[in-house]
Formats: sequence, structure tokens, C-alpha cells
Amino acid sequence: MAWSACERYALQPAPGGLALIQDLLNTRPRLSTKTPDLLGTVQLAQQWSDTALREWVEASGRPSRKAKLGKADVEALRGIRSQLVSVLRGRDYGDEPGAGLVALGGVEVGMTVTETGMLLFEPSGSGWRRIAGAVAIEVHDAQVSNTFRRLKTCRDPRCPGGFYDRSPNNSGTWHDVRTCGNVANLRASRARRRSETA
Ligand SMILES: [Zn+2]
Repeated sequence: MAWSACERYALQPAPGGLALIQDLLNTRPRLSTKTPDLLGTVQLAQQWSDTALREWVEASGRPSRKAKLGKADVEALRGIRSQLVSVLRGRDYGDEPGAGLVALGGVEVGMTVTETGMLLFEPSGSGWRRIAGAVAIEVHDAQVSNTFRRLKTCRDPRCPGGFYDRSPNNSGTWHDVRTCGNVANLRASRARRRSETA
């Protein structure tokens, strides 16, 4: 069992429950290799959601039941995904900022008290709200622990790769420097040569 969307792009998952958001980013399709959108149909989305929530419960130590998804839920999840992408791209690459996490409005988060007297947030509600609740909890925690800035999308806007930047100064921009990074370097050096010979 693993984070299925991260795994298909051979990306190392972010630590703990934050990998849920990374996995959601990596549900995006890669057109060049015909790798499907894992939120492309209700059936694919249900499979992804079951696996991801199971992983999340294990990684975060928080409880959650499965989310039963219908067509509208899958659309809502795609909306949250594209808003997340636009928030991250705006932050990291200065792309036109999106409308923010509007679709997270209406998310319900419940609380339980642990044996040690700690309050534990957990997603409640049904369908897309359950996954969105888990996403909201993870965004909040990662902002508090200052790890959210390490969660990124590949600089190449056509690339669906979402990664956790483990570089010491948080300077990574490619999901894989050997592929997307190399292609970009090659393009840049060709452009330099062209302008030198012009
Ligand atoms: Zn990439």
C-alpha cells in the first residue's frame, strides 16, 4: 500500500499526512505518456480516495472513514486540486494567482480528545468534504510547522509532478532535475546560442 498518485510518477512522498496534498496534486494527468487523470472518472476517483484516505489515516494518526464519491464530489475535488495548483504556482513561480481555496468553504472539521488530553482535528462531512477536511487540516499543520512552503508543483506548467522539496535552502523547482530540469536547461542553452550567433 502506498500513495498511489505519487508512486506512479516515482515521487517520494512528503512526510506524514502532508503527503495527502502531494498525492492529490499528482492525480493530474500526464498527457505525453497518456497517464490518466485519477480524478477523471468517478470510479478512478473512488479508487484514489479509498487508498489515499487509508494512507492518510496511517501517516497522520488521525481517524477518518471512507468518502463515498459521486459525480459532483469528483468535480469539487478537481476544483480544489486546480486551486491548490494555482496557489502554489502563484507563490513559487509568480503565476497569476488563483481565486484561493474557495472550494474549501463549507468544509467540516470535527474534534476528538486523545487519551493524553490533546485535541485532535479530524475530517467530518461526507463525499468531497471529507477529503477537503483532511486537506485543510494538513495545510493548517504544514503552515504552522513551516513545511507547506516545501510542497511544490513542477516549474514546467505542462508537468503534473507535485513534489516535496528536500533541498536545504528550499530552492528546488523541478519535480525531477534529470527530466524536466534537463529539458529546460537544454532549451535555455539553445536560446543563448541562438542569441549569441544572431
Ligand atoms: Zn516536471
